[in-house]
Amino acid sequence: MSNAEGRGSVVVGEPNSAILGHELGHAENLEDASYYKTFLGAARSVANIANSLAIPAALAIRLLMDDAKSRNQVLNLMTGITAAANAPVLTEELGATLNALKRSDNKLEDLKTLGPAFLSHVASSALPIASFQMARLI
Ligand SMILES: [Zn+2]
Repeated sequence: MSNAEGRGSVVVGEPNSAILGHELGHAENLEDASYYKTFLGAARSVANIANSLAIPAALAIRLLMDDAKSRNQVLNLMTGITAAANAPVLTEELGATLNALKRSDNKLEDLKTLGPAFLSHVASSALPIASFQMARLI
């Protein structure tokens, strides 16, 4: 999980210890890593744009580009950009989740909270990739 800014900052007043552990896991990963922080911030921005524009962009490409071959090349390029931007974001989320589980006193219980949260990150990353690929088929 992350805040709207996507910088992995600690959520103050968060009642759930698993989620707090996850946020601390981000802080741990990002400590003294300004290059990584900048890179991850950029990847998050690209991923957020790609994820929110994927469906309209895929439809626009489908409607505006008549030539099937170039259209499919553009859709594949968009798929690649989206996947490349989402990969470091998912890696960071997984890292924060694993950090939280490592220090957890109740790993199974915390996994029940953090597992679905991580899967929702995976799902939101998979949606734009699926959109660009489905636009090739319709
Ligand atoms: Zn997170």
